Amino acid sequence: MNASVCALDELRAKGEAFLQDVSREYYSSHAGLKAAAELQPIYERHRDAFGDESLELALGLLGQSAPGSDEHRSGRMLVEWLIESRVGRELAPLEEREIAWEGSAMIPLADGGAEPYRRASITIANTRDAKERRALDDARAELVKCGLAPMRQERLAREKELVEKMTVAPNYLDTFDALAGISVRGLRDECQAFLRDTQPMWDDVLPEFLKRGLGITPSEATRADATALLRVPEFDQAFPALEMEARVKGQVVEMGTSPDANGRVRYDTGEREGKRARAFCAPVAIPDEVYLVLRPHGGQNDWQTLLHELGHALHFANIDSALPFEYRWLGDNSITEGYAMLFDHRMKDRGWLGRYTQLGKSDMPRYLRAAGFEELQFLRRYCAKLIYEVELYGGAVPWSALPELYVATLTSATGFKYQSADAFVDVDPHFYSARYLRAWQLQALLAETLVERFNEDWWRNPRAGPWIVQELFSQGQRELAEEQAQRVAKKSLSFAPLVKAIEGLLT
Ligand SMILES: [Zn+2]
Repeated sequence: MNASVCALDELRAKGEAFLQDVSREYYSSHAGLKAAAELQPIYERHRDAFGDESLELALGLLGQSAPGSDEHRSGRMLVEWLIESRVGRELAPLEEREIAWEGSAMIPLADGGAEPYRRASITIANTRDAKERRALDDARAELVKCGLAPMRQERLAREKELVEKMTVAPNYLDTFDALAGISVRGLRDECQAFLRDTQPMWDDVLPEFLKRGLGITPSEATRADATALLRVPEFDQAFPALEMEARVKGQVVEMGTSPDANGRVRYDTGEREGKRARAFCAPVAIPDEVYLVLRPHGGQNDWQTLLHELGHALHFANIDSALPFEYRWLGDNSITEGYAMLFDHRMKDRGWLGRYTQLGKSDMPRYLRAAGFEELQFLRRYCAKLIYEVELYGGAVPWSALPELYVATLTSATGFKYQSADAFVDVDPHFYSARYLRAWQLQALLAETLVERFNEDWWRNPRAGPWIVQELFSQGQRELAEEQAQRVAKKSLSFAPLVKAIEGLLT
């Protein structure tokens, strides 16, 4: 074995040990088993894993290998991860400052009271009175504008500067393209076309849902109204909490595979003080020890969340253990998000809903139409976010002009008036929104393929589960989402199947 192969294996071993420790720490603190995450000591203990030598080695692998080769693939993943880890460590104090602000900030209310910042979005969604809801959101925006927004702006600007200093490519956007293996400007163009193509459909349904859900017209609708509108408790009784886990696991068994990947997925779905409200999946060792953590709130959202996290958990727990570190732990997250969405989109699948939930035949058309509306709203919002984020990281628009651009872009795409204070807060760092958009496209193609191979009710075909495990899950994230689409569906990723699916739901 030559020296560089040996050094590369060492880099992989150190990387895996580091990520296992980080993942275990996140799991323990977010699951409420430990008061707070202590990440700094882990970074300190593993500083070698993402040190200069590791980066040079990975850059060498990327630079000296032929594009298309497995060496090049590994190099791309390792460089992307190392840069993210190094930038993350550098910006950790700024991130901690923001988390501390979010944890303690109080929104002053007109009646003299105060609302904790962290609870505001839930309160806004649950406030039925429009005036009260908008007043709370205005007070929230006022506080964010002087507190969180400048901190976020500083972190985003520093991130852009640090990434560009790595000189992988001339600027931030090209660096992202080179390391993520996609064209973010190409995706931006697709998003613009999607917004254009679905505008008539959106103009058609928005007034109807606003009137029926909230009794308001599009001209007065704000983002606060959007959150209230999408909080639909109307169908909650069809999604009983007590049956949820057994029903969903039962479906996976019917599909011919193990709902806990033969003991490798551990479900942590009970109530526990200190458990984070948002569900998550923590792969502490891939594939052998994966946690699916959920704190039940009741209703439809829990079911959707459980399905989403189950897609992640079954993916991680079924990855071939012989694959190198980077294919198991790193790579294109559009893949794992695509599997999570493949599972959570069963909540938009008439046959699945009829079999595993208590949604009655008479409620089904109304439920599916609402699901189509929600899907279109979220997709239009994410397209607008990506279009805006390309401008933010692109550097052609001065930072001072970004809030106005944010409001114009998001408002025109969604029909809800956005707040300029959120221009730096409502940003997914390093284009995670691009991963979601590709995942959305990927799950639509995967679902089409599964229907072709295993019929409309593929989710209960005992041949489908083993196929999914073998052809999708076991491969980790070796492929890019586009490569997988070509291999499995013989098609390119696009918004076309999503438009078709939404049209089907809205009719
Ligand atoms: Zn996810």
